[in-house]
Amino acid sequence: MHPTTLFAIDGLLTEEEREIRSTVRRVCDRDLRPNLTTWFEEGAIPARELARQFGALGVLGMHLEGYGCAGLGAVSYGLACLELEAADSGLRSLVSVQGSLAMYAIWRYGSEEQKNEWLPPMAAGERIGCFGLTEPDFGSDPAGMRTSAKRDGSDWVLNGTKMWITNGSVSDVAVVWAQTEEGIRGFLVPAGAPGFTARDLKHKVSLRASVTSELVLDGVRLPQEAMLPGARGLSGPLRCLNEARFGIVFGAMGAALDCLETAIAYAGEREVFARPLASFQLTQEKLADMALELGKGLLLAVHLGRLKEAGTITPEQVSAGKLNNVREALEIARTCRTILGASGITLEYPVIRHAVNLESVLTYEGTSEIHALVLGKALTGHAAFA
Ligand SMILES: Cc1cc2nc3c(=O)[nH]c(=O)nc-3n(C[C@H](O)[C@H](O)[C@H](O)COP(=O)(O)OP(=O)(O)OC[C@H]3O[C@@H](n4cnc5c(N)ncnc54)[C@H](O)[C@@H]3O)c2cc1C
Repeated sequence: MHPTTLFAIDGLLTEEEREIRSTVRRVCDRDLRPNLTTWFEEGAIPARELARQFGALGVLGMHLEGYGCAGLGAVSYGLACLELEAADSGLRSLVSVQGSLAMYAIWRYGSEEQKNEWLPPMAAGERIGCFGLTEPDFGSDPAGMRTSAKRDGSDWVLNGTKMWITNGSVSDVAVVWAQTEEGIRGFLVPAGAPGFTARDLKHKVSLRASVTSELVLDGVRLPQEAMLPGARGLSGPLRCLNEARFGIVFGAMGAALDCLETAIAYAGEREVFARPLASFQLTQEKLADMALELGKGLLLAVHLGRLKEAGTITPEQVSAGKLNNVREALEIARTCRTILGASGITLEYPVIRHAVNLESVLTYEGTSEIHALVLGKALTGHAAFA
């Protein structure tokens, strides 16, 4: 029995949602999986080519309405994230950052001119975007950011450094959040703007099939029209992060599912003490426990998707989903790794790649500790952040 059959997950999905899932899975199997080991080992992906492929597949900003976006439901978007992350968290990150951070910021807070200029080519994957909130000294506490935007006549001049920015060096536009006299505001910084540089961060052992960069803004002069008119204060970027986190609730379960499928197949073939590894009780207990966590995580993801479609989902509920599903996915990846024994440490199997990728997923879009604190505040009424 397939682990998802145990929980009859498919019965919760519409035909269209199942179709979208199959389409994304087919493309992952055909075009992505055969290259993943190389991309991961080399720490380099053909980002532009991939973006165009994802654009053609229709997954970039697929949950947004208009401007060349598909306007699909939250569960469809989640299932696409699940299939992409079953391939590699880095590829899901490319899609999440493009659609849920960069495009969403423009879609939600941009002017009509900004939307018309950027969203159609970004949906098609002809243009890539990134989202610069984190700084070297401010990750979990972005309110302290030092990047500043100061008025100079009718222009804005930006100075500062953004760190750990996914898609940074391959982006055509960076959504950069900066302190102004009127609080935190968002700016669209085009690649090639004088004073703007993006440098890749090297030596990562996690999310190697993903571009991660440092953005330096050294007196970058932008016109007033570069500012996102609809975003004021930290709630602007935080709302974007909530969108991306939702995709992770599903995505992490994709990585977990790929690990579990691999471990079940391996345990069936591997003989130890003259019997299949799968026939030992300890192995079966591991598999049963993992199937339970996977099933519960998928049920939670679909439930949150339906709440999102109904427009009633709260940020705390997204935090609950992200905290639980990433934590459990990581645990599943680690346990699957033990089932594979020494083979589990090689890239011949996807498990160790998922495990190290999930370490990043545990940290970005709000660390597990911060999401625990969000839930702690919701449960007690006391904020324990500071
Ligand atoms: C691969 C990757 C890609 C990323 N992509 C992007 C991107 O595209 N755009 C972007 O803006 N950012 C991105 N990030 C940054 C990411 O969002 C931050 O790393 C994250 O918010 C944590 O910030 P930090 O690394 O500075 O850790 P810190 O904030 O320094 O936290 C260090 C530790 O302290 C804990 N901690 C912090 N505050 C508290 C507290 N109040 N109580 C208890 N514990 C606490 C944290 O949970 C963590 O365990 C990315 C990160 C990675 C690894």
